[in-house]
Amino acid sequence: MYNKFVKFVQDTYQTKEFIPLHVPTFSGNEKKYVSKTIDSTFVSSVGKYVDQFEQQIEEYTGCTKAIATINGTAALHTALYMAGVKSGDLVITQALTFVATCNALFHMGAEPVFVDVSKISLGLCPVALETYLEENSIINAEGLCQHKETHQIFRALVPMHTFGHPVQLDELIIVCSKWNIVLVEDAAESLGSFYKGQHTGTFSPFSALSFNGNKVITTGGGGMVLCKTLADGMRTKHITTTAKEPHPYEFFHDEAGFNYRLPNLNAALGCAQMEVLPKFLKQKRVLAKHYEAFFKNTEFEFAVEPDYAQSNYWLNSIICPNSEDRENFIEETNAQGIMTRPIWKLMHRLPMFKNAKRGDLPVSEWVESCLVNIPSSPVVIG
Ligand SMILES: *Cc1c(COP(=O)(O)O)cnc(C)c1O
Repeated sequence: MYNKFVKFVQDTYQTKEFIPLHVPTFSGNEKKYVSKTIDSTFVSSVGKYVDQFEQQIEEYTGCTKAIATINGTAALHTALYMAGVKSGDLVITQALTFVATCNALFHMGAEPVFVDVSKISLGLCPVALETYLEENSIINAEGLCQHKETHQIFRALVPMHTFGHPVQLDELIIVCSKWNIVLVEDAAESLGSFYKGQHTGTFSPFSALSFNGNKVITTGGGGMVLCKTLADGMRTKHITTTAKEPHPYEFFHDEAGFNYRLPNLNAALGCAQMEVLPKFLKQKRVLAKHYEAFFKNTEFEFAVEPDYAQSNYWLNSIICPNSEDRENFIEETNAQGIMTRPIWKLMHRLPMFKNAKRGDLPVSEWVESCLVNIPSSPVVIG
């Protein structure tokens, strides 16, 4: 099995050299646009590529306003800040996520609360969410969702579209409105993923994308806050650019803002990458189908997109029959030059989140012990 898989991946990527998990491809106008910013000297926080990149994201995702930031974590921090998260608040998210989701809210003085993920999406489970809230919260006199014992406010829900597979948004939105909790999608992994035809990240008043080097497209480092209204978009831009009131030469800042604006140099890369995004997505879909066919009728289950959604198949993954097979799979394939790796450790196993409130996490634990990510860079097949 392992040898067959190694050969299959080598044939797919047409190489016997080391095959990484996900690497960027620069096959379009990247060099041209980046050298234009250097020639223009506008390499920093002002420049035409930043605005152009935001426009391209707005057009592609259909969000009202997109605001570029230095990375995805900063975008998430901004989105949570804009959603009204304050020190002492509770923010519900997945234990099965990349640590950035939790870091962003932790540094605002908020506390993560972990609920389980669903087998359908590998993202936050609406049933587990409703169960947790029924058991642990009440609606207070102000209409806010409050923890029964600590009286902290459950301010926001941050589901994450794991590996690009969209979560069950309709169901989550129902729970959010019932309990008066703001939805903030961590769409860092899901540029190019659609839920019932609508782009992920556009269901929340604020959400976050990432353009880190390992994502579907990259700006080196970068992120984007997607905003639902124009007014929110304007305010988001204001607070991510030091909250400076526009004036030709005077410095007046009307609140303590952030210096989160994406440099023009990085945005230039983003503009060129957006031009090739549709091609990458097509190639990644073909690759996913190819893997799906390979694992059919084996005891390894290839994770497919939920039937209500179109996934970008950012990182392909398989679920092994048990953790022992998972260890063997990872060892054998890495030894033969095919990079594979386990999913992240669940967040409550990390020292800083070990005392976090949480519901039962049976699905998260199962995925944690049996999932393997396999090479997923865009490639031309056949
Ligand atoms: C990549 C990622 C982020 C943001 O990462 P940055 O490196 O800060 O751009 C946030 N959440 C998840 C789930 C991610 O995968």
